[in-house]
Amino acid sequence: MTELSERPRVSPRLVGSLPTGFLAATWQQPAEGRTFGVTDPATGEVVAQVADCDPQDAMTALDAACAVAPSWTRTSPRHRADVLHRVYSLMHERREHLAGLITLEVGKTLTEARGEVDYAADYVRWYAEEAVRPAGRSTTAPNGEYQILTVAEPVGPCLLITPWNVPLAMATRKAAPALAAGCTAVLKPSELTPLSSIAFAQLVLDAGAPPGALTLVTTVSAGPLCAQVMADERLRKVSFTGSTAVGRTLLSHAGARVLRTSMELGGNAPFIVFDDADLEVAVEQAVIAKMRLGGQSCVAANRFLVQDGIAGRFATALGERLAAYRLGPGDADGVGLGPLVDDRAVDKATRLRDDALARGATLVAQAQMPEPQVASRGSYFAPVVLDLVPPDAAITHEEVFAPVAAITRFRTEDEAVALANDTEHGLVSYLFTQDLTRASRVTGLLQSGMVGINRGLVSDVAAPFGGIKQSGLGREGGPEGITEYQQLKYVAAPGLRT
Ligand code: NAD
Repeated sequence: MTELSERPRVSPRLVGSLPTGFLAATWQQPAEGRTFGVTDPATGEVVAQVADCDPQDAMTALDAACAVAPSWTRTSPRHRADVLHRVYSLMHERREHLAGLITLEVGKTLTEARGEVDYAADYVRWYAEEAVRPAGRSTTAPNGEYQILTVAEPVGPCLLITPWNVPLAMATRKAAPALAAGCTAVLKPSELTPLSSIAFAQLVLDAGAPPGALTLVTTVSAGPLCAQVMADERLRKVSFTGSTAVGRTLLSHAGARVLRTSMELGGNAPFIVFDDADLEVAVEQAVIAKMRLGGQSCVAANRFLVQDGIAGRFATALGERLAAYRLGPGDADGVGLGPLVDDRAVDKATRLRDDALARGATLVAQAQMPEPQVASRGSYFAPVVLDLVPPDAAITHEEVFAPVAAITRFRTEDEAVALANDTEHGLVSYLFTQDLTRASRVTGLLQSGMVGINRGLVSDVAAPFGGIKQSGLGREGGPEGITEYQQLKYVAAPGLRT
């Protein structure tokens, strides 16, 4: 078998066919040709240069979104649905190219990257279908004298800010409902992962959306650029997915203008396993909840809360599964886990793992690092299972965003619920039990926007994804997702009998 370090990389071929600038209505490059490099976390190599836009460039992008907004808003829902259906088809036609870019910029395996393309495309199809669903309602006023009509109108030009961990799916989860609702948008991807968004924006144009309907702005200076766009009166909505810290900053900008926001922020998901759980199911689902995207998911299980009677067997079985992962570049044969996104992510995971160990946790099992030639170049971190993690360990309060499975044991149901809710976050919780009554009772007590019962995966295009507490505001996906891009107008109209 070829050594991992000798494998040819996908990068030059894929990046060679990308436009290096960003895609707007009338222009391709930012003012002075400034660029920044995109790094492959598997090798540490810079694989592409993309446009580094400044706030003035972003205003030009907003101009493009505003210029086309009146005509895009007036298109029929059927027309917008047809454009989105073509986007969906093109995403499948270009699946391998898109997946290759995701692997290149994020590091995840090609299998996971292909899964992301499918998941991302599904949002486009879902909102192509939602575009033509009737919105609004009509009723007779209680006094019988007039009609109450509610009409759902597009909110107007939007700013869409996405994170690096699921770059394509987070872009479609925002852009598809925005376009379906009749909004135009400026998309600002993470500086770590702009390549798949560049390819997506090109694909939207190729599918027949007018230039400016979706304009892409890439930059290393997200703060000043977004602040300037958000201060412009013409912008009507910001949709953000990312950390709670940046979400707070954006909410303060939005407050100044009473700007509508959707905030999909960080998580700290508890994964609760009761003594009566089916051990095999719990372990299988724990692997999914922990290892999807290498632990770099907002819905990744961050804290395993396991009841005393099953904890030892659960820890051993999970340890065997995580220790078996083979690490390496995401496009290499036989690799089950790619690198983390960058060295900062490795440093954070190392700090949180070591802090837990220093506070008395035990190391159950750890995977092997890749061969030294590979490990020394990329941002690799070996999956690890820790048991007896005390509730005061830093990992119980911080999102680790890495394959560290931290198990804390509990005795009673009340204790489990108290531990699970002891966080400022409230995105998702998972619970495992074969007792239906307990499942219902605990679900009602858990403070999170989503709950997985005997399931470690909750994401679905048809479901309203989102959090409570400091995990965010608003929902993405499902019929709810399009309402984030609509505003209601209530019309008092003459009654049919007056
Ligand atoms: P991040 O907050 O650092 O960055 C997210 C985006 O915001 C990037 O595009 C970045 O360039 C931009 N940004 C950074 N500073 C900004 C500023 N001052 N003004 C405007 N934009 C700014 O997050 P990240 O590291 O890219 O992503 C990881 C985080 O995202 C985790 O906390 C994760 O839980 C969260 N996340 C949440 C969801 C969800 O649906 N709730 C989904 C995926 C990721």
